[in-house]
Amino acid sequence: MSNMIYPTTNFKATETLTIERGDGAYVYDNEGNQYLEGLAGLWCTSLGYNNRELIDTAAEQMGKLSYSHMFGGKTHQVGMDLADKLTAMVPVENAKVFFGNSGSDANDSHVKMLRYYFNAIGKPEKFKIIARERSYHGVTVAAASLTGLPPNHTHFSLPFDALGVLRTDAPHYFRGALPGESEAQFVDRIVNNLEQLILKEGADTIAAFIAEPITGASGVIVPPAGYYEKVQAVLNKYDILFWADEVITGFGRTGNDFGCTTVGIEKPALMTLAKQLSSAYMPISASVIRGDMYEAMIEPSSQVGVFGHGYTYSGHPVAAAVSLKTLEIYERDNIFGHAAKVGEYMQKRLGEFRDHPLVGEVRGAGMIGAVEMVSDKKTGAGFEGGAVGYFAMQACQNHGMITRAVAGNSLAFCPPLIVSEAQIDEMVEKLGKALDETL
Ligand code: PLP
Repeated sequence: MSNMIYPTTNFKATETLTIERGDGAYVYDNEGNQYLEGLAGLWCTSLGYNNRELIDTAAEQMGKLSYSHMFGGKTHQVGMDLADKLTAMVPVENAKVFFGNSGSDANDSHVKMLRYYFNAIGKPEKFKIIARERSYHGVTVAAASLTGLPPNHTHFSLPFDALGVLRTDAPHYFRGALPGESEAQFVDRIVNNLEQLILKEGADTIAAFIAEPITGASGVIVPPAGYYEKVQAVLNKYDILFWADEVITGFGRTGNDFGCTTVGIEKPALMTLAKQLSSAYMPISASVIRGDMYEAMIEPSSQVGVFGHGYTYSGHPVAAAVSLKTLEIYERDNIFGHAAKVGEYMQKRLGEFRDHPLVGEVRGAGMIGAVEMVSDKKTGAGFEGGAVGYFAMQACQNHGMITRAVAGNSLAFCPPLIVSEAQIDEMVEKLGKALDETL
């Protein structure tokens, strides 16, 4: 046993698997066993492992300039190039970008920039944020408070009220619908709940609504048709900003460039990006905001003498170089097009499990999906606790595939974007064996 405190781990069951190396869509443990990476690490290794170009880019940049900070406007070309390339890709108007190290800290940066912005335009009371049940936005104090999953809250005494976190429904029809309710009625009900929450709290007190276009860690929830159209209409009516957390859905994952495109979110005011931004070869995140928000922050930063927020590693040159190369590869090799095509195949193949006696719902879009296991296929009743999901995840691992049990008893799939249809077949075959053993 090492002296490590493991992240997101049951401390009674640490050191479960020792991974030694990776190549393409596969990783290998310390005994040489091969595993298909069904979850791209933690939804992040889009270009797979051992990508020569990314390795060479990192090594070259380390040799040239291994570190330089960006405080006080000190800069470097590769950081500026990444900022320009990224802001040209995103659907945010006149986008400006602040770099960090993780999805969590990027969300914290957004919380602070929202406050800075609304203070700057003379609306200090407009600071609350509406987040959804069963969302995942990370684990730093502010990000964990936005997250809507109990294990990320319990025993941590998070400052929900001080942060102004408000909670609204998860758009999961399968789990959230009332008996006899149609999808359209479900959407109308939960969007009405959202509007009532805004009216109760006062629109003048609410800065933003944060959502993962399609969720990841909470079980890959794909909202019913019409949900985001109606949510956006309500937010526009009350002048509340849309904040898209695209940490998982960004960069080709859902069959398009961004999850916003896939689900019809138009012009979010804020966007959080990480993970596939660098294909996980280096830690880096991006908090993107609308240009006018940045403009409003200029004067107050000058009054104070500094915008007092920044990380030692904001715009780290090696992370910037690797990200820039990642974005170039996405474009040059039409990775998003490939992912859309193979993603469609993956959805079709995962859909075959709808008939499996253990499966209550299969959901997903592009190259992200989940298979939810139920105790009663007819009623959709789930299992108590997460033991079944854990068992199925272990069974997948025994058959040479890595996945994750999410939201208790759903198995999530999010392979590297470079996988082939043959590798999707391999994934499906292994999943089939694992589900049969779990029955
Ligand atoms: N937001 C979303 C949607 C995520 O899925 C995650 C991580 O899985 C985060 C934020 C937090 O990112 P990180 O783990 O890099 O802090």
